[in-house]
Amino acid sequence: MKFWFIAGSQRMYGEGILQRVEANAMEICRELAERLPYPVQYMGMVLDSGIAVDLIKSANSQDDCAGIITFCHTFSPSKMWINGLALLQKPWCHLHTQFNREIPDDIDMDYMNLHQSAHGDREHGYIGARMGLARKVIAGHWKDVSVATRLSKWQRACVGAAASRATRVMRFGDNMREVAVTDGDKVGAQIQFGWQVNTTPVGTLVEAMRAVTPAQVDGKIEEYRSRYVLGQANPESVRYQATEEIAIQGLLDADGSTAFSNTFEDLYGLRQLPGLATQNLMAKGYGYGGEGDWKTAALTAIVKKMGGPATFMEDYTYDLKNGLSLGAHMLEVCPSVAEGTPVIEVHNLGIGDREPPARLVFEGKAGPAAVMTLLDLGGRFRLILQDIVCVAPTQKMPSLPVARVMWKPLPSLEAGAECWIMAGGGHHTVLSHGVDAEIMRDWARVMGVEFLRIGAGTDPDAFERELRLSEIIWRKA
Ligand code: MN
Repeated sequence: MKFWFIAGSQRMYGEGILQRVEANAMEICRELAERLPYPVQYMGMVLDSGIAVDLIKSANSQDDCAGIITFCHTFSPSKMWINGLALLQKPWCHLHTQFNREIPDDIDMDYMNLHQSAHGDREHGYIGARMGLARKVIAGHWKDVSVATRLSKWQRACVGAAASRATRVMRFGDNMREVAVTDGDKVGAQIQFGWQVNTTPVGTLVEAMRAVTPAQVDGKIEEYRSRYVLGQANPESVRYQATEEIAIQGLLDADGSTAFSNTFEDLYGLRQLPGLATQNLMAKGYGYGGEGDWKTAALTAIVKKMGGPATFMEDYTYDLKNGLSLGAHMLEVCPSVAEGTPVIEVHNLGIGDREPPARLVFEGKAGPAAVMTLLDLGGRFRLILQDIVCVAPTQKMPSLPVARVMWKPLPSLEAGAECWIMAGGGHHTVLSHGVDAEIMRDWARVMGVEFLRIGAGTDPDAFERELRLSEIIWRKA
C-alpha cells in the first residue's frame, strides 16, 4: 500500500514559483517516505478543477492507494477542488505544514507569497468542512518527529480501512444461543465496513479434517515445537488440534477469509473445541471471535493488519482490591500477547461436552495496551476503546491452565467499568499492544462510525453526557 501526496497551488503565481512549490513538495515526500511505515509518493499539483478531478479519480481507481495527503504550500482556491473532492473515496489527511521552519531575517513579500500555507491551508480546510468530508488534520513542521508519528498512525489506520473492505469472516455455527451483544446485522456491517460474513457448516470442517494427512500433522507438530514448549500434553490431543488447524486454515484460505468464528454449542462431529488450533491461527494473523462473535473476529483480523500484538479477549473476573481485571477465554487467546514462551497443555474443559483440548498456556506481557469492542446499536455501530496497562499477574493461579492477561483499566477499574457498561460495551474485545486511541479514532473516522474512548482523563459524568449527545449526532436521518 502507498499514499498519494498532492500539493495545492494555482497558475497565478507563475512558472518559477510553481516549480519551487513542486520541488519542495517532492522533498517533503522524500523525507516522509523515509520516516513512515508506508511509502508517500508525490502525484502532482492541483492548479485547476480538471487536475483535481483527474487526480482524485485515479486515486480512487488504484487499489494500492490507501489514502491521499494534501498540502497547500501557497494559496489554492478551493472552488477548484470541489468537483474532485466530491468524488473522493479514499481516506484524506490534510497535512498543515510549512516548508521552512523559521522566518528568515531578510523576509520580504516574495518570501511571504511562496511560504503561505498558514494562508492556503485555511482555504483548504474550509472546503473540507464546508463539504462535510471526513479527514485527519495534522499540523507541524514536516521534519518534526510528532508529525511523522501521527502520520504513521494515520497510515496504519488507512491500511486497516483497506483491510476492512477486504475482510471475509467464516462462521462455523451461529451466534451463541440467547446472547445479544455478540449478535448483529451482517448486512449492515457489510455496508459500513465491507465485511462479508458467511456461514460454513461444521460438517464441512469435519470432512476437511478427514483429508488431512499424517505427514501434514507431523509438519504442524514440528512447527509447534519450534514456537512453543510441549508441556504435559497428551500427544493425541495435540495431533487432533494440529488436524483442526490445518483444516480450518485450508477452508479459510480457499475462501479468501481472514477471520473465523465458532461456538462450543455447535461442535457436531468435532472431538475437541479448537484451542491450540485457533491460538496458532491468530498468531499467524487470522482474526477470531468465540461463541459466533463475527464482529470481534473481523476486528481482530483488522487490528492485526494494522500491526503489533493483538488478540481476541474476554473480560472475566475482577481483583477489586487492587483495581485489576483478569481477562482470558476458555482457550482462545493469541500468543502474540504472551510473556515468554507459551506452553502446550491438555486439560479438561467444563463447557462444550467434548474431549480435553490442547491449548497454549501463558501470562500476558506487561505494558500499555488497549481493549476495544464494536457493538451494533440497531442501524449503526459504535466502537469503544479503553486504555489499559497490562501488568504481571499478582497471583500464581495454578488451577487456571489457560492463557490469561491481567490489566489495570483506566481511569480506574470502577470508573472505567461504569463508562464501558453505560456505553453498552460487551465482554468480548480485541486486546492490542500495537494500536492506540489515535489509530482507532482515525480508523473509525474513515469507516464512518462513532468512536468512544475511555482513558486516564475520562470522567463518568462527562462521558454520560457525551453518550447522550452522540445519540443525536449519530442518529440516522
Ligand atoms: Mn466468550
